[in-house]
Amino acid sequence: MIADIDQTLISRRDIATRVAQLAQAIVADLPRTTAGQPTELTLVPVLTGSVIFLADLIRQMPVHLRIHLISVSSYPGQTTQSTAACINQGLTSLPDSLQGAHVLILDDILDSGKTLGLVRDTLAARHPASLRACVLLRKDRPQAAACEVDYVAFDIPDQFVVGYGLDYDDYYRNLPDIVTLKRHIIQPEPASPNPAKTV
Ligand code: 5GP
Ligand code: MG
Repeated sequence: MIADIDQTLISRRDIATRVAQLAQAIVADLPRTTAGQPTELTLVPVLTGSVIFLADLIRQMPVHLRIHLISVSSYPGQTTQSTAACINQGLTSLPDSLQGAHVLILDDILDSGKTLGLVRDTLAARHPASLRACVLLRKDRPQAAACEVDYVAFDIPDQFVVGYGLDYDDYYRNLPDIVTLKRHIIQPEPASPNPAKTV
């Protein structure tokens, strides 16, 4: 697995420093109760890529929070391009109403923006008190720049990356750094899309 790495783009140390900063900013931005305390936060992490980010982030946020998972399927498989996105109901644990909730979407990477757009629309329909979005990575692409997002840990070049939760064909999520893979590891893009799978 280690031999498959081409370059380390973001080290585990830099990730830890930035995640701590983000956690502080998110808590500071929460509305306050009449007693001056931060209000409760509802986190909606997008499975599967955001799980490591989620685990590190929430342990730096000393506030009342709840987690509702959402799963989105797209067609990446052994490819490096996302095509379409749809909610995977079987793995999603959203309540029917989010009335009164201060909701924060958490995703691994903002690429075409289709995933975030779909998740945002799905949650907005449940009428939260506020709805924000946080991504670990944002790619340097016009589609990503055009997408509304409140917190970004790192802006990266338009390259395919893995590690710290991000996969290639479901592998490499356990790498502690964010890295690129050697060219021969990445399969050529197939002519037709692979079956839908969670991102
Ligand atoms: P979207 O194109 O909808 O913004 O992103 C869809 C999903 O594609 C992301 O949540 C992520 O799972 C996957 N994706 C996009 N770019 C990359 C990348 O560089 N590396 C990996 N591992 N996944 C990516
Ligand atoms: Mg993902």
